Amino acid sequence: MRAAVLHETGQETLEVLDDVEAVGFGPGKVRMRVRATGLCHSDLSAMSGVLPQPAPFVPGHEGAGEILDVGDGVTGLHQGDRVLMCWLPACGSCASCKRGQTHLCLAGFLNAGTPNFRRAGGEVFGFAGTGTFAEEVVVAANCAVPIPDDVPYEIAALIGCGVTTGLGAALNTARVEAGSSVAVIGCGGVGIATIQGARAGGAAQIIAVDPVAARREAALRFGATEALAPEEFADAKARITAGEGFDYVFEVVGKSATARTAYEMTRRGGTLCIVGAGALDDTFQVNMFELFFDEKRILPSLYGGADVLRSYERAIALWRAGRIDLEGMITHRVRLDEVNDAVDQMRTGTALRTCIEI
Ligand SMILES: [Zn+2]
Ligand SMILES: [Zn+2]
Repeated sequence: MRAAVLHETGQETLEVLDDVEAVGFGPGKVRMRVRATGLCHSDLSAMSGVLPQPAPFVPGHEGAGEILDVGDGVTGLHQGDRVLMCWLPACGSCASCKRGQTHLCLAGFLNAGTPNFRRAGGEVFGFAGTGTFAEEVVVAANCAVPIPDDVPYEIAALIGCGVTTGLGAALNTARVEAGSSVAVIGCGGVGIATIQGARAGGAAQIIAVDPVAARREAALRFGATEALAPEEFADAKARITAGEGFDYVFEVVGKSATARTAYEMTRRGGTLCIVGAGALDDTFQVNMFELFFDEKRILPSLYGGADVLRSYERAIALWRAGRIDLEGMITHRVRLDEVNDAVDQMRTGTALRTCIEI
């Protein structure tokens, strides 16, 4: 079957190959036919080496499709079921799951070191233990989450990562209050989902900050009340918050420099929420006096920061009610053969999400 493969970390383009086999099917596993997948910024970060990921690998972790085969012992899933891919599945029995923090469960993630694919040249990994830039992928049964019939594959794919991450940062982790002031630094797909979450939460002001004009324009369509270039941000803090700072600032870039800006833009006692996925060697610094004296809450948010299955259901409910716009987030569509176009669109900032039809 066909899949897009990155041969070595640091390479900029993928090769679409037709000699790839999805491996590992057996008890507790399902084989999934991928129908649609989004390109998430984390895929690019894995390609460049910012996020750790063994190579060669098939990128893609934001996908949806149908079940082809169900392994022994799998309950609740059947051939033909429409499902979305959950790249961070909960085992239900570890200490994190028992506390209700299923997004911190590592049981499924530890399988990410096992190759998901094979070709004549050798073993091929799947990004984050998934690898949805492929016609087929074998994953643990709890990675495949059934979706209602009215949710198209391309919408389900978005919910599988970017939308859940952004909405959850606003609604689960930061718990944006009605009437509050919010700033979001970084307005790609996850930043736009964060803006939509802040709007759903009732924020009065939502300031979008991004160096790319196309993303600033997009932010206004999805609920930002103002969209600014980074150099305009400090003036906006003075003008909008009387110099005090915003109630909530979301860092959706994954860099210490923008996290530091976000810290400074947060009011005393306000909340800095870190959503961007950053590098192991990039250190965020806060001095001990300001940490204590300004009492800013620093809240990291991983994959939406709460029970992932409940977050999926909430995203579907908000989408059905017309309270969030997911169709509008898909700015580009390509086929698997054109996957490198999707990579370029993400790198140049022209796409919020490119949907890859497989
Ligand atoms: Zn667990
Ligand atoms: Zn992602």
